Amino acid sequence: MKHTRHSFCRICINHCSILVDVEDGVATAVHGNSRNQVYGDYTCVKGRSQHEYLRHSDRLVHSLVRTPEGHVRLSAEKAMDEIAAKLADIRDRHGSRVVVPSGLLRESHQTCQRTVRSSTIAG
Ligand code: SF4
Repeated sequence: MKHTRHSFCRICINHCSILVDVEDGVATAVHGNSRNQVYGDYTCVKGRSQHEYLRHSDRLVHSLVRTPEGHVRLSAEKAMDEIAAKLADIRDRHGSRVVVPSGLLRESHQTCQRTVRSSTIAG
């Protein structure tokens, strides 16, 4: 069965309004939403291609760590532990003001985007 879903692109902070064609539970195409008052019909090539990223053979679907022998798979829990230890080391050596979670910078922008989207998504 084929149908189209309203959504928004999550690739970058613009969060463009998109329409996703779905066939038998699989995304088959992404289009701009011409009825959206803010984004109009716009999507960039990344946004229009994202259904292809989902099934691409090079898609990263598990954590990797770089070693002298190359990239080695590790669990998400182990990756988080290693990242946390490295961040703690940076904080301890240079102070807490040198570490800025990028999500904090994006959060205020995302809140604005959600407000705009929620007020225009029906359009
Ligand atoms: S369609 Fe392009 S510009 Fe819009 S949110 Fe996605 S990546 Fe960003």
